[in-house]
Amino acid sequence: MTKYIFVTGGVTSSLGKGIISASLAKLLQARGYRVTIQKFDPYINIDPGTLNPYEHGECYVTEDGAETDLDLGHYERFLNVPTTQANNITTGRIYQNVINKEREGAYLGKTVQVVPHITDEIKRNMRLLGESGDYDIVITELGGTVGDIESLPFIEAVRQLKWEVGSNNAIVIHLTLIPFLAAAGELKTKPTQHSVKMLLEYGIQPDILVCRTEHHISQDIRKKIALFCNVNINAVIESIDAKTIYDVPLLMLKEQLDRTVLSKLKLPLKNEPDLESWKDFLGRLKNPTAEIRVGLVGKYVELPDAYKSITESFIHAGAQNECKVRVECIHSEGITEENVKAKLSHLDGVLVAPGFGNRGIEGKIIAIQFVRENNIPFFGICLGMQCAVIEFGRNVLGLTHAHSTEMDESTEHAVISMMEEQKKITLKGGTMRLGSYTCELKKGTKAHAIYGKSKITERHRHRYEFNNDFLTQYENAGMIASGINPENNLVEIIELKSHPYFVAAQFHPELKSTVANPHPLFVKFVAASIEYARKKN
Ligand code: GLN
Repeated sequence: MTKYIFVTGGVTSSLGKGIISASLAKLLQARGYRVTIQKFDPYINIDPGTLNPYEHGECYVTEDGAETDLDLGHYERFLNVPTTQANNITTGRIYQNVINKEREGAYLGKTVQVVPHITDEIKRNMRLLGESGDYDIVITELGGTVGDIESLPFIEAVRQLKWEVGSNNAIVIHLTLIPFLAAAGELKTKPTQHSVKMLLEYGIQPDILVCRTEHHISQDIRKKIALFCNVNINAVIESIDAKTIYDVPLLMLKEQLDRTVLSKLKLPLKNEPDLESWKDFLGRLKNPTAEIRVGLVGKYVELPDAYKSITESFIHAGAQNECKVRVECIHSEGITEENVKAKLSHLDGVLVAPGFGNRGIEGKIIAIQFVRENNIPFFGICLGMQCAVIEFGRNVLGLTHAHSTEMDESTEHAVISMMEEQKKITLKGGTMRLGSYTCELKKGTKAHAIYGKSKITERHRHRYEFNNDFLTQYENAGMIASGINPENNLVEIIELKSHPYFVAAQFHPELKSTVANPHPLFVKFVAASIEYARKKN
């Protein structure tokens, strides 16, 4: 039977439930268990696809084309196992399912209520992955903080599910904060006590407390927390601030979180966790032999979470190259022809980020012109690729009005235009070209050399594409389509023949980079930037 672990959060948001869940999953996986993690989010959007990145950070896209919470990115990066739509459920989706069933007549004669109908639907979804038979353990992370009005039905569903499957088959880990009061020079346990008390009010006794802290928690404090929160002392787990999130599995191993979990779930320890390759990665990450600075040009740079997968991919690719990659976020809105040199010339490589809409677009185009003309390594992703096409059209091909119809619907040089299949779509939610598609790489191109094969699959999230009417003109001038979707000829990768490293993709390579499998496009971009830095000095 599948075992269930629920991870709740108390005291404050941003304690890192996603990282704790992913770290625990990593340890259990390293002991030989089949583990997955799912996230239940209390907001009413059906998925985060319609949210501005400022609201909720990056929107992570799965292989099957689900637009999901960025924590799923952490799950994949840690576990190296793909997630699906089933791994991320929101209140919106739960209500939508219930309301659809009501309209179908599934509850004929009954008053449809939060309890039992909404909670039943939550429980059904919580069990879905477990019932697939693919996993020994399912970790469910509950978004939000205990005590939020909107989290209540989820907490109630956990209480019921725990009762239904029995306490040997489901446990609750509560993530909480032990603040340090500088004035008193003390760590304080009261917020944790209150938070556990609140969970108790809802009928849930947490089995394990993971305590986020900036300072080590003494044995006395552990005892105090254990006594007042009614848990075993070995179930009080310290989670101290880490230098990198990739240290957290090892910190949790030291705290024996995996052992405590397995003992509560009455599961054997199996082998000691095999973390050799993980430690190897950490070793390379922490002992770089080179250092580069890359610019991340985007318009959501005030919120680092907006480009989470990109910055994590740089960490994987940096470790692979034994190089510290300093990512400098540059606001595309602030880049002008006058200041572009001052803003970019010290960089060893420039990545132009994905995005939507007109704001900041001209700054991206100016940045690309600068790196193209100065032979600085360039990497464009999605909108970043589209901007590279626009820039080349305007400045090399003389198509003065080159633009995307996303920004200028009636431009006479629509080098980026809306995909045919998108033209009839009116609904905004979940209707982009999403998820995994095949791409064929042309032999003899940089892309082919980078991947070392001809057929790849990559994940997508876009409505616009390269306009193939212009392809011959571009290729004759040296910007070639090195990756093409074989089914519909959509241009997936472009590169410049005469530039040391100028590669851009319509898809999102950052969504597939993991600790175990750093993405080749990031690895090679970092390598090209190292090379550029070496020559420059
Ligand atoms: N806005 C562009 C499109 O829809 C690019 C999308 C993206 O960067 N994810 O095609």
